[in-house]
Amino acid sequence: MSLIVQKFGGTSVMDAERLRNVARIITRTYDRGHNVVAVVSAQGHTTDELIAKAAELNPKASKREMDMLLSAGEQMSAALLAMTIEALGYPVKSFTGWQAGFLTNSRHTNAKIKRINKDRVENALNKRTIVVVAGFQGINRFDDITTLGRGGSDTTAVALAAVLHADRCQIYTDVDGVYTADPRIVPTAVKLSEISYDEMLELASLGAQVLHNRSVEMAKRYNVYLEVLTSLEEKPGTIIKEVTDVEKMIIRGVAKDTNVARISLMELADVPGIAFKVFSLLASKSINVDIILQSIGRGDTKDISFTVSAADKDSALELLRENQARLGFSDINCDDNIAKVSIVGAGMATNPGIASRMFEALAGANVNIQMISTSEIKISVLIEKSAAERAVHAIHDAFYDLG
Ligand code: ADP
Ligand code: ASP
Ligand code: MG
Repeated sequence: MSLIVQKFGGTSVMDAERLRNVARIITRTYDRGHNVVAVVSAQGHTTDELIAKAAELNPKASKREMDMLLSAGEQMSAALLAMTIEALGYPVKSFTGWQAGFLTNSRHTNAKIKRINKDRVENALNKRTIVVVAGFQGINRFDDITTLGRGGSDTTAVALAAVLHADRCQIYTDVDGVYTADPRIVPTAVKLSEISYDEMLELASLGAQVLHNRSVEMAKRYNVYLEVLTSLEEKPGTIIKEVTDVEKMIIRGVAKDTNVARISLMELADVPGIAFKVFSLLASKSINVDIILQSIGRGDTKDISFTVSAADKDSALELLRENQARLGFSDINCDDNIAKVSIVGAGMATNPGIASRMFEALAGANVNIQMISTSEIKISVLIEKSAAERAVHAIHDAFYDLG
């Protein structure tokens, strides 16, 4: 029997009316003869509200307790949705992450899925029961609850689709597909009928929150047929797949990320091995570094600047300060009043002039570039945070107003 995994984000399950709407989407799919696994996020802004509640009581709450708290949001949605489906007269069972068999590593608040014991879900499906799974969570080897990082319910859905060999994984959200830029910032953004895994992975990693980046990574690895669509209207969304042959768009999208911080280490010794020392130290604490800029040596010293996610800023600074004597820098400074704006497109590598067109657009909008990084399919610039939306508009216009 065919199986469809359907994931519903916070807006889609926000209140009773939306839950009924979601229950109808699920039961309609079921009535068409498919088995259905539904994955849910916490309702509306529940996760943000829980974080605010925690901060009021203990701004330095342990990540273990944060996971204990945040996982409750998804658990509530799962039970509420199951009850709504019950009320329509269908067989249904809801499961928390651990009941659904999600085993993760122990990186609380940003855990990775290691294994899924799918027996319980599969048994329910074999009985033609609709399964509802609380997204974004699992347990580690000590049976402690973990969560998968903000936006992680998408990854729960794709992981289930992969292990259950689902025919498709549908991500229902509050926009009707993936656009060339966040349609809430750029109203003229164009909806893409298809996008490749690689391009979507870059867009998601560079701040387009429409899909959790790890969900795209997993979809690519297990060849999951992934679709982004709206729960509010019945119409086709965007398909994410291996290769796409949509009209030759050089730039597939513009993304912005305001959750970044730049750290600069001043006057490091200009000798072999120093970059290795700095970045292996950060890696040992699982701190991801993104754009790196090293100055040309002056005398015997050089400066190194790099970006980390805003969430890692404090621990990175603390770690570097603790190791100041060993690394030998004279000063450290940090700026989190910045944003990273990027363009993504597989056609970029073979089309010269893309970078200059992007920089021209930024110059025209009077946006100063602090750092630049490029790869085969993306160009990112670091700019002042307050200029981020202006930059996205200007860049989008430069690439899409040409007709
Ligand atoms: P959900 O709660 O359903 O998981 P999210 O808020 O995580 O929804 O993701 C959907 C949001 O992603 C949209 O409301 C939109 O503002 C934002 N977004 C950012 N970039 C894009 C893009 N390129 N295409 C579509 N949506 C985008
Ligand atoms: N509720 C979590 C969040 O807001 C996970 C998710 O929605 O995917 O990040
Ligand atoms: Mg999301």
